[in-house]
Amino acid sequence: MRPPPHLEISNVSKHYGEVTALEDVSLAVEQGAYVVLLGPSGSGKTTLLSVVGGFTVPSAGTVSIAGRDVTALSPAKRPTTTLFQDYALFPHMTVAGNVGFGLKVRGVAGAERERQVVAALELVGLAGYGKRGIHEISGGQRQRVGLARALVVGPEILLLDEPLGALDLNLRRQMQDELLSLQRRTGRSFVHVTHDQEEAMALASLVVVMNKGRIEDVGTPKRIYEYPMTLFTATFMGESTQIVGRVSGAASGTVEVETALGKLHGSSGLMPGTDVMLVIRPENVRTDAGETNLGSARIREATFQGAHYRVLARSEQADQEFVLRLPPDHPVEEGRLLKLSCRSAHVVVLKR
Ligand code: ADP
Ligand code: MG
Repeated sequence: MRPPPHLEISNVSKHYGEVTALEDVSLAVEQGAYVVLLGPSGSGKTTLLSVVGGFTVPSAGTVSIAGRDVTALSPAKRPTTTLFQDYALFPHMTVAGNVGFGLKVRGVAGAERERQVVAALELVGLAGYGKRGIHEISGGQRQRVGLARALVVGPEILLLDEPLGALDLNLRRQMQDELLSLQRRTGRSFVHVTHDQEEAMALASLVVVMNKGRIEDVGTPKRIYEYPMTLFTATFMGESTQIVGRVSGAASGTVEVETALGKLHGSSGLMPGTDVMLVIRPENVRTDAGETNLGSARIREATFQGAHYRVLARSEQADQEFVLRLPPDHPVEEGRLLKLSCRSAHVVVLKR
């Protein structure tokens, strides 16, 4: 028999009066996963994290960790630690005082506590910073103190709520790398909340896309980016050209779709007559003669992104905009005519 999932959320709902923060959420997570809860503001990410951490009592449903039902346990009795959005450090304590606080509460004595604090600071790259005050370190270093404080108590599962939101882009990228290597070295499961799709891609072994208190999609970043299950997920996981259509024919996993650009093909099990949106990622729109002809389009705007140009082009045949990538050496002047195509394997057909 397979062991139970490390974290199992079963049919959890949470209502605040008329407001539904979570609606029948179920999720199973394996040990050592890096789970990212991704969704727009108000989609229920913090509420779900808080239900797992024990700070919010669900209106219905259960949470189990390592096979044990923890739904009725207080936060302190759970094998979880939560790193809140504002890190909530004690400003009057030193770095070491902050990191050692949880150990002190748990009755870990002097020398042993000090040893663990030193090890935790080393783990987050802050060796030697123990004696500093919280006001004597930078925002990014405070972030790491928060992490060290959360990790030092040895939680089975670390819960992080938008932990990098306050950092500038470079520091955010650096911290992403550090979080990932920390997670690999410790072997813990992390559950990390963000509204940033790039952050989700950079970190997650499992992305959970949330929308209006429900889970829209669960999978690897690659699967969710390439084959999103819903239009919401497709839009939230990055840019795409979106072409309106209606299924006109279907045969063994592929469909023919009637669009303003003519008949296009994609893979899907949808029935004829279904109103759909065809989704094509920018890197899959080609400017050579590909399998599926998308007609001609004129460049409306091109912005240099370093490794490529991001190009917006308008169709000559229909009221249709394309977003695509062109290599840095490609001419991209406004009004330039492009012949566009794609492979039907790259056309994702989703219900509208
Ligand atoms: P996210 O973290 O994805 O931005 P939240 O989980 O904070 O979303 O909130 C989900 C929904 O629940 C929102 O509509 C929010 O206003 C509502 N909500 C969250 N906490 C409370 C609360 N304590 N009282 C009332 N409504 C709440
Ligand atoms: Mg939140």
